[in-house]
Amino acid sequence: MSRIQLRNVEKTFADVPVLQNINLDIDPGEFCVFIGPSGCGKSTLLRMIAGLEDATDGDIEIDGVVVNDLPPSARNVAMVFQSYALYPHMTVYENMAFGLQQQKCAKPEIERRVQDASRILHLDGLLDRKPKALSGGQRQRVAIGRAIVRKPKVFLFDEPLSNLDAALRVATRVEIARLHRELGSASMVYVTHDQVEAMTLASKIVLLRPDPAAHGGQSIAQAGHPLELYHHPANQFVAGFIGSPS
Ligand code: ADP
Ligand code: MG
Repeated sequence: MSRIQLRNVEKTFADVPVLQNINLDIDPGEFCVFIGPSGCGKSTLLRMIAGLEDATDGDIEIDGVVVNDLPPSARNVAMVFQSYALYPHMTVYENMAFGLQQQKCAKPEIERRVQDASRILHLDGLLDRKPKALSGGQRQRVAIGRAIVRKPKVFLFDEPLSNLDAALRVATRVEIARLHRELGSASMVYVTHDQVEAMTLASKIVLLRPDPAAHGGQSIAQAGHPLELYHHPANQFVAGFIGSPS
């Protein structure tokens, strides 16, 4: 069974169709990357899966359940934003524990989950620090840690590396790839405008195009393995965007 299934999903803002005819299956353990020009609706699609934005039409299923009417907290997903949005007055430990405390998770279980996440993300020595005493890369890892402790089936990332400098971007990208391997069946849905990120991380790329109404009502220009898009682009738009050899 697919982890995520999108069926005829549409999104319209003020009568302007932003996303049309989105049909997509994301498998357990898949690393799915949304790419496309700025404004094509990548963040909007991610936010609809998260439950932060309603679909105008169509169905969103997670593990076989239609989640259109479920709030974010009931969808078994965790979102990691571009700005890390940590609580400045809390320590790293408290930042990661906070969501679990809200869920009334038992204290020993909270400790176990935070320890596990810290180990995976190499944050062990930093649990007593406040965010201001961390580097940008460390803060981003804490933000990912907050998602991991909830043990979601789906991780949603919206350009998580775009605030980091070039060297840190590569290092954190490698960490995210390792995280994906360690988490096994969790699916990743990842938005980026960075082609290298997309090509290296994705098991499936979904290339979106802007103004679907002008293109037969199809937002998805092509979806498939990175090498498939590169070597067999479905149309000129895909070839141009991916930079396929002509
Ligand atoms: P991307 O992440 O691919 O850059 P977005 O999903 O942020 O694109 O936005 C897609 C389009 O939808 C853009 O034209 C944007 O202006 C529009 N849009 C996004 N959110 C809203 C909103 N809340 N109200 C109106 N228009 C929006
Ligand atoms: Mg965006």
